Amino acid sequence: MVEQTDDTFELYDLRVEIICPPGERILCGAKPGDYFTLEGEMLHLPPGQGFSIYSLGAVLPLLAAKQRETHPNDWMSTDAEVACPDPHCKSRLRIIRTGKRSFSHGAVTVVPLSN
Ligand SMILES: [Zn+2]
Repeated sequence: MVEQTDDTFELYDLRVEIICPPGERILCGAKPGDYFTLEGEMLHLPPGQGFSIYSLGAVLPLLAAKQRETHPNDWMSTDAEVACPDPHCKSRLRIIRTGKRSFSHGAVTVVPLSN
């Protein structure tokens, strides 16, 4: 008999917004209000909007950690802004946890649970 176990887990949905300080020249093609969302492993851009690959590269290493529950004392819990990687550009990228989404282990991997 196969034991039925709850194999669900939760990840935060993320929204990454561009912050453009007023009056500053923006060099990475971003416009105030530009954003993308991340649901699980799927990145979504609004129709017609682009996003700099260099800016994406700056936030990419943080996104998987931001999707997961982190300790309240962990800087990953409190810090949310990343500088544009162009040192001459004053834009920032703000990572916002917008909600939680449930996933099934069995739906996202073939590796069996260890418990
Ligand atoms: Zn920039």
